[in-house]
Amino acid sequence: MDKITIKAPAKINLGLDVLRKREDGYHEVHMIMQTVALFDELTFEKTEKQGITLATNHETIETDERNLIVKAAKLFLEYFSIEQGLNIYLKKQIPVAAGMAGGSTDAAATLLAMAQLLEVQTDKETLCKLGVKIGADVPYCILQGTALSQGIGEILTPLKPAPDCFVLLIKPPIEVSTKFVYENLKVQELKSHPDMEGIQRAIETGDLNGMCKRLENVLESVTIPAHPIIKEIKELALQQGAISALMSGSGPTVFAIFEEEMQAKVAKKVFEEAKISNEIYLTHFFQP
Ligand code: ATP
Repeated sequence: MDKITIKAPAKINLGLDVLRKREDGYHEVHMIMQTVALFDELTFEKTEKQGITLATNHETIETDERNLIVKAAKLFLEYFSIEQGLNIYLKKQIPVAAGMAGGSTDAAATLLAMAQLLEVQTDKETLCKLGVKIGADVPYCILQGTALSQGIGEILTPLKPAPDCFVLLIKPPIEVSTKFVYENLKVQELKSHPDMEGIQRAIETGDLNGMCKRLENVLESVTIPAHPIIKEIKELALQQGAISALMSGSGPTVFAIFEEEMQAKVAKKVFEEAKISNEIYLTHFFQP
């Protein structure tokens, strides 16, 4: 095999809680993760010449060593002691700096693709151990689907697939730095924490309404005061009949959950006409 193309799904958080800041500076989290059917596409091609080159259709993301794809590819080659030149192309569709783990899912897809391309006998557990060196969400992006994420994101428990629904993603035209949000989070002062067991129970029994009424993300306490447009988007989504609307990750993307496709389509149109954002996607949960 000389070439491989792989899809990397975006994620949202159905619940996001932060328990404490650890001594090493990482935050201990408790999250329910869900992949959605919005994908980046990555193509890897072997080359005679040594070295890794990355090209992309995206105008601003870096294509050098700072890109998580390049980091993951180098780490993979180093760990398995392989010398191989690569040309990589990234077709970016997941909004950037949006709380949807765009960089992490690209890194995860890189590890998965390279194992296939280079015919390396390995398993997901090993790739997850490599992945966490790149970012806390990378192991989950290797696993995908509905899952509980604990520790700094490396302790994963797969859950039953979350109930089917229609998911409208609305990303306002601002970029939010995950670092900024965590640095400004006051864990001790949080007034409320998501009912994680309740969300999990609702998922297990296929209770969409029960799941939706418990969705909560403690990072909203930092991102919404800094960017009130997120609250406006949530309110507009609820007015349009969403069962629930929540910020994903550190934001600013809002996901709104609808039971009926028609309602979701109408809401999409309303958001498009309101010119709140030019990054709006109607999608659904993705199970690998
Ligand atoms: P998370 O939800 O994991 O916090 P995010 O969705 O908020 O992540 P990303 O889209 O991963 O944020 O991008 C954050 C920054 O990471 C970008 O501004 C960019 O500079 C850098 N970056 C490095 N590699 C990538 C990549 N492959 N795709 C997107 N951004 C990347």
